[in-house]
Amino acid sequence: MPTTASEVKTFSNFIDGKWVPASSGNTCENRNPADTRDLVGIFQRSGAAEVNQAVEAAQAAFKKWSHVPAPRRAEIIMRASAILERQKETFSQDMTREMGKVIKETRGDTQEAIDCGNFFAGEGRRMYGLTTPSELPNKFAMCTRNPVGVVGMICPWNFPMAIPSWKLFPALVAGNTCVIKPAEDTPLSVYNFVSALTEAGVPAGVVNIVTGHGAEVGSPLMEHPLVRAISFTGSSDVGRIIGESCARTFKRCSLELGGKNPMIVLDDANLELALEGALWGAFGTAGQRCTATSRIVLQKGIYKKFVDELVRRAKLLKIGNGLDESVDVGPVVSKAQLDTVLGYVEVGKKDGARLATGGNRVEDSEHTHGFFIEPTVFTDVAPKMRIAQEEIFGPVVSCIPCDSLEDGIEIANDVKYGLSSSLYTRDVNRAFAAIRDLEAGITYINAPTIGAEVHLPFGGVKQTGNGHREGGVGAFDFYTEWKAVYVDYSDRLQKAQIDRPE
Ligand code: NAD
Repeated sequence: MPTTASEVKTFSNFIDGKWVPASSGNTCENRNPADTRDLVGIFQRSGAAEVNQAVEAAQAAFKKWSHVPAPRRAEIIMRASAILERQKETFSQDMTREMGKVIKETRGDTQEAIDCGNFFAGEGRRMYGLTTPSELPNKFAMCTRNPVGVVGMICPWNFPMAIPSWKLFPALVAGNTCVIKPAEDTPLSVYNFVSALTEAGVPAGVVNIVTGHGAEVGSPLMEHPLVRAISFTGSSDVGRIIGESCARTFKRCSLELGGKNPMIVLDDANLELALEGALWGAFGTAGQRCTATSRIVLQKGIYKKFVDELVRRAKLLKIGNGLDESVDVGPVVSKAQLDTVLGYVEVGKKDGARLATGGNRVEDSEHTHGFFIEPTVFTDVAPKMRIAQEEIFGPVVSCIPCDSLEDGIEIANDVKYGLSSSLYTRDVNRAFAAIRDLEAGITYINAPTIGAEVHLPFGGVKQTGNGHREGGVGAFDFYTEWKAVYVDYSDRLQKAQIDRPE
């Protein structure tokens, strides 16, 4: 049902606990990709002026916040998690409305933020450093974790609450202050998330939101001299720009980028399980997950049977507005994404892959106002074709035949990305060989390429990132600086490496 103009709320930036409009007076519309007549909200189109205000507010709040004991900061995070739990249904519905994925998945997205809060709240009483013997007598050595300072966060739209939670929760428990830039398509979920933090007691200035277009907000944020670290999740192209900028100003920089995730299915696999996994991995979130199963590498003995059944089942998936509980696949997020995905369908056809099902925009009367694409399966795809190499980020999967596990792994690894991977087999020896040899930050055995849990490290190898991991305790390696501390209680000058007691 379209929203009337009078019901539409205008959101300002959230800076130092206050609502601050863009000084330019410009705004952006947030529309429902399942029905573009539905205007979800109006957000500020901000620029350098608002970024500067937000960074200065974060810098001013840093000293006090960083001196709050970590267990006390963590109690606030625990309360925020409870608020998210209370608001789970409302926030999930807002999320489906602003980015389209089906309601059971947006409930999962909100749940991931809740899980993340609960995990990092517990870490507030750990944040372990280490003690170690000194080489000198009567000297004590230890390492502590200190916050980094003001952290800038630049987010994508596909996990509108989970990804901000992976960034904000560990950053806050560690004592940092933050300026977050939501994706243009999903600012409302970041507002909902930060409203929970504020209600839970995060003080003014500790978390600030600046909305707007990519470079207009992103560039001043990553270039600001008071920003000590940038945490970015998004495309490899933008990641490269951010990495270069951060290198110039010696900022710490975490890049979580694209994927081209393979699922290998061997002849001995439980085919029913693998088919179920393939449908979920390829078409969940309309294929717009960084970990989406975008290549299915099938051993030749089961290739035909698997592909025929995959195609049959893909045709049965229900496409529609994600707020309808019976829908399997929602729209893609925007017109630009629709055009990109349909462009790749043409590339696949031109390069000689067989379009076994899908490939079209769905435009009947029920879908005419949204960006819906049929679940699409390409078969007989050669590993070097563009659709098998480049991230499509839509409901399109490429089926590639292989001879053996070794051949499958070679195909799987022959892309520039390395985020997630999966293998279906009943053979434990092959499973462990694949765990060792698949070039990816994540490997699933007998499960699709999606389904990360918040307490394990999340991130990838090769051009998927720059070596950092979100999730789990490893997140503190990004959000804290190690400090080495030496306490000499000998009452005399002792010289390391020079005084060597007999
Ligand atoms: P994107 O790179 O287009 O945008 C991400 C963010 O960067 C947005 O907030 C955008 O406004 C901002 N941005 C754009 N141009 C900028 C610039 N020049 N300077 C600074 N900021 C800029 O990505 P997207 O379309 O929002 O998200 C999809 C991509 O994200 C896919 O490639 C996907 O694989 C990736 N992703 C990766 C992970 C992961 O953890 N590895 C998770 C989710 C999504």
